[in-house]
Amino acid sequence: MIVRRLLCLSLVTVALGVAEEYTYWIDPCTAAAATATRCEAGDPELGKWALEAWARESGGALTFRKSETEAHARIRLRWANGQGSLYGETQPITVDGKRGAMIYVLPETGRPGGDPLLRDTIVYLTCLHESGHALGLPHTAGFADIMYNFRYGGDLVEYFARYRRLLKTRAEIAKHAGVSDADRVALRQALK
Ligand SMILES: [Zn+2]
Repeated sequence: MIVRRLLCLSLVTVALGVAEEYTYWIDPCTAAAATATRCEAGDPELGKWALEAWARESGGALTFRKSETEAHARIRLRWANGQGSLYGETQPITVDGKRGAMIYVLPETGRPGGDPLLRDTIVYLTCLHESGHALGLPHTAGFADIMYNFRYGGDLVEYFARYRRLLKTRAEIAKHAGVSDADRVALRQALK
């Protein structure tokens, strides 16, 4: 009887496609952090929108929940300054026995062309790319992909500008994931 119940339970679990939950922590942009990294007060929201984009694109396989403490957050996003990497960096960590990641995002983009939306585009897409790594996505050679590796070259101004052209307001970042078909396929494979 117990075996049958377990079997039934596992069948239900498969049928419902139980989502994997990631707890997260995003550093606030304090006055000290702003001085050190040039982060802006709204940047944590850009990081949150990036996680929400992955959740949407996962088709229900992923959920994110804000952690009460950084110490128990599987995904931790910090604002950093420009030593070493160009836009951001992700390092794997283990949190309470589960896969997690430390993400460092560099908000100092120089406010290109005096366009705040282009600046927010760069920070948002960096959060999206780095959180993709946190979910297990590798780099790709596809220029259309958010997981594209800039080492393959190409028009990096256009890489950000094509997303910027989708926006009339900052709030629209929450609606445009910035994820390609190939990224979506890779995400669903990584979550299997
Ligand atoms: Zn990368």
